[in-house]
Amino acid sequence: MARINDNYLKLKAGYLFPEISRRVKAFAEANPDAPIIKLGIGDVTEPLPEACRTAIIEATKEMGDRSTFKGYGPEQGYLWLREKIATQDFQARGCDIDASEIFISDGSKCDCGNILDIFGKDNKIAVTDPVYPVYVDTNVMAGNTGEINEKGEYEGLVYLPISAENNFTAEIPTEKVDLIYLCFPNNPTGATATKEHLQAWVNYAKEHQSIILFDAAYEAFISDPSLPHSIYEIEGAKDCAIEFRSFSKNAGFTGTRCALTVVPKNLTGKASDGSDVEIWKLWNRRQSTKFNGVSYVVQRGAEAVYSEAGVQQTKALISFYLENAKIICEKLTSAGIQVYGGTNAPYVWVKTPFNLSSWDFFDKLLQTTYVVGTPGSGFGAAGEGYFRISAFNTRENVNEAMKRITENFQA
Ligand SMILES: *Cc1c(COP(=O)(O)O)cnc(C)c1O
Repeated sequence: MARINDNYLKLKAGYLFPEISRRVKAFAEANPDAPIIKLGIGDVTEPLPEACRTAIIEATKEMGDRSTFKGYGPEQGYLWLREKIATQDFQARGCDIDASEIFISDGSKCDCGNILDIFGKDNKIAVTDPVYPVYVDTNVMAGNTGEINEKGEYEGLVYLPISAENNFTAEIPTEKVDLIYLCFPNNPTGATATKEHLQAWVNYAKEHQSIILFDAAYEAFISDPSLPHSIYEIEGAKDCAIEFRSFSKNAGFTGTRCALTVVPKNLTGKASDGSDVEIWKLWNRRQSTKFNGVSYVVQRGAEAVYSEAGVQQTKALISFYLENAKIICEKLTSAGIQVYGGTNAPYVWVKTPFNLSSWDFFDKLLQTTYVVGTPGSGFGAAGEGYFRISAFNTRENVNEAMKRITENFQA
């Protein structure tokens, strides 16, 4: 008899995005002429930078010639890509990260989940609330939690509430936790962390021998020069942090797939006999066994992000989305709606007006303006009363959506 992984049965049925689709579909059927604009998605809309496309085409040509054809590459990624990342993303910002500590992958989403392979079952795990749902669901699947309660929280996880009251940055816990997920700039709130805030986390992690899982998928959107882009800009972080990065949001690789995870060589965890084990060795073993690398063609595309043209073109992409975010913030504010985020992140986190629940605001916005966003409560109990609007869209759609909101929606 084939037994299944019962942990999957604990998962809350994929609720948020299917429910959004259901409501949008019902509305569209009842109002077939309503021009709906979707500002709910966390996916990019603008095309791949030219530098990346050219590199991908050139690499494809190489694959068509026996003398330049490539079969399996290194599981960790090609050194020419890892070296560019090490020098331009890390060493240029004063982070002592070596190419050998960088692992190329086909996505941060998978890395965030896969990393649990190398950690034990009895870790105390902390996430913020609201949170990127991948961190929670992968822990449920791995058997690191109990059942879900009526608030939507899983037994065994430590939830750190974030809201306007704490600037959307979690208080350092008083209890001891072993693994902590942090995401800055944050999805869904668009919040950022100062060096001081991250230093407090690093100090905590070092004191408790915990490991921080730092998701920097949106670091390229940081425009405030005082903010850290990497956890390794913080003193001591190499002893207690793993960092996830992705080409999805800075260079539009959501459909092309390339990301990276940094595992410092000196980072250690405890074996059950009390000995210290290098995390790098475990992750290297895990990747070599379960992964055969990202395609050569795609890695050449990612490498082009670091060329002179690539740097300029990705900057232009990010400025484009940040300008969208600025327009969203300005227009919503002028409609009397309180907004957060949106200055160093492609997400605007809206306080729902009239104390509406996240879903009531979703319905009201859809019915009065035909604009679709994402209810904050879908990211966790503490997201109730908030709403996420994404800046990933065309300028035309953003302008039109904001025009409708300012004309039809005064809070
Ligand atoms: C988009 C996103 C990522 C990137 O995921 P990929 O699998 O690399 O596309 C990672 N973390 C967060 C929070 C994201 O929103």
